[in-house]
Amino acid sequence: MRFDGSIEDLKKKLEPITSAGEWYEINENQYQFKTRSNGILNWFPATGGISFQGNAESVKKLKSSVQSLLNSETKKIQNIDSPTISTEEFVSELSIEDTTEKTYFIDNTYSDSELIIGLVGTIGTDLPEVSKLITDRLKAFNYKTQNIKISTDIIANIGTPTESINEFDRISSYMEEGNRLRKESRDNSILALGAAARISKLREKPEPLRRNAFIINSLKSPAEVQKLRKIYSDGFFLIGVHADHTRRYEYLTKDKSLTSEQASRLIDRDADEREIYGQHTSDTYHLSDFFIDYNGSSDSLKKQVWRILDLLFGKPYITPTFDEYAMFMAFSASLRSADLSRQVGAVLTRDRCIISTGANDVPKAHGGLYWPDTDPKTREIADIPDGRDYMRGEDSNAIQKKLIIEGIIDALPEKYREELAPLIKSSKIKDITEYGRVVHAEMEALLSSARSGVSTAESDLYCTTFPCHNCAKHIVAAGIKRVVYVEPYPKSKALQFHSDSISLEKDSNNVIFEPFIGVGPRSFFNLFSTNLGSGYPVVRKTDQGETIDWKEADAKLRTQMLPCSYMDRETIAAALLSRYIEEI
Ligand SMILES: [Zn+2]
Repeated sequence: MRFDGSIEDLKKKLEPITSAGEWYEINENQYQFKTRSNGILNWFPATGGISFQGNAESVKKLKSSVQSLLNSETKKIQNIDSPTISTEEFVSELSIEDTTEKTYFIDNTYSDSELIIGLVGTIGTDLPEVSKLITDRLKAFNYKTQNIKISTDIIANIGTPTESINEFDRISSYMEEGNRLRKESRDNSILALGAAARISKLREKPEPLRRNAFIINSLKSPAEVQKLRKIYSDGFFLIGVHADHTRRYEYLTKDKSLTSEQASRLIDRDADEREIYGQHTSDTYHLSDFFIDYNGSSDSLKKQVWRILDLLFGKPYITPTFDEYAMFMAFSASLRSADLSRQVGAVLTRDRCIISTGANDVPKAHGGLYWPDTDPKTREIADIPDGRDYMRGEDSNAIQKKLIIEGIIDALPEKYREELAPLIKSSKIKDITEYGRVVHAEMEALLSSARSGVSTAESDLYCTTFPCHNCAKHIVAAGIKRVVYVEPYPKSKALQFHSDSISLEKDSNNVIFEPFIGVGPRSFFNLFSTNLGSGYPVVRKTDQGETIDWKEADAKLRTQMLPCSYMDRETIAAALLSRYIEEI
């Protein structure tokens, strides 16, 4: 087949099928028309020669339509094989995307997934050190790492922080600018959007970088974490780094040369700012997939980082510690709660054995909390009327607080009411928990032991949230020796009221309250289950029964972040199916 004329003439002749693909100028001696179905026409102006390549079926259709269009004066395709087919149908067939070459996105052979790691830690935690350890370890897995600093890469680019040689002024200015950006956009995730935009720009081409990780340092708002999870789903992991107050204070005064007053001010401010658009590091920390402890020893930090990455890359012999297991069980217990505000879970253990569990819910007569019941005949599952809070249609604590506030406002002289009402409403009265009908998870774990006659003395308590002061006094009295928690609970007065019997210091003789360290409940299931998680199944032995020789360089991320949507994957599946049908 040949065509003598200009490229414009050729394009004009083939105009009816142009919408099925695109023209490319390879060089001045070769033009190409490529259909989405991967049929390719090459035209060589010097000789007028036309050749075809690509998907066999598409080439057949493309050839037939080109032949017909070049030979006829009309703009209709005369198809010799099936004369009834219309030009539109022909074009639509040529437009079906050929995706069979991308089947590796839907089987388990894709292994170059990008990885996005977010870091969260209160101010004064040496996060750059954590980032460095991750970068070094990822090299063993043939991963390159790029760092994204929220302050200098994002805030400095979209905002205008004042640069200062004074470290305190510099940090404060970045904090304020971050708050301003959140407030003015009325979007607490704006800095996460900045991080995603930055990653997109670093990629240069609209395709994933092979074996590349991005570390975002650091996140300060729950909305940022939610946004990054939405964007990157299984490819995003949040690491919460815990460092105690003394260590953070030392880092700020020694490494960053702040005065002690400046260090204290920054630490207080960073943890939890009052305003909605401020930094909420404490609320962000507990959303982590992994919790690591930076006690100042880089060796311990390194071991924790290595274990996380080995787990992410499917090392088959990493199993949970007892703390991780017990905390996952506490989380699991929390899921049975029907409480209107939050789900909390607790587990009581002794000698690494679970003795009872608890969740927050309304108590029922003769012991325990409400469960929904199954009707043996109809199989309908329902709660009894008037039992749980949702069946009563209200949260008794919220109602009582409202009545107290209204009572105080009514008692005020009328002329002050309007002015004082908002102040009373936002006062600490709203922190009262006294009037809730639910038994707290920690209390239910203690009561559950009592019901079954198991002593609570010398046991450990794992709770998904820091205990309130009401539970705390009962925990002390029950003889618990150690309490491990994930989520902070700022309203709790436990440490203040019981400083004589509760301590955060591990070497104290008091009841120890300590933050959870390890793989959090969020990633426990996905990473420890050998075959039920969203990643590929983990195999631990060969056909001959020998253990697998796992090597970093060949390992691949357990959950691969696919650079295509479910709609794309569906198209790939359909294309693969057609190929199978052709072959059968
Ligand atoms: Zn409580």
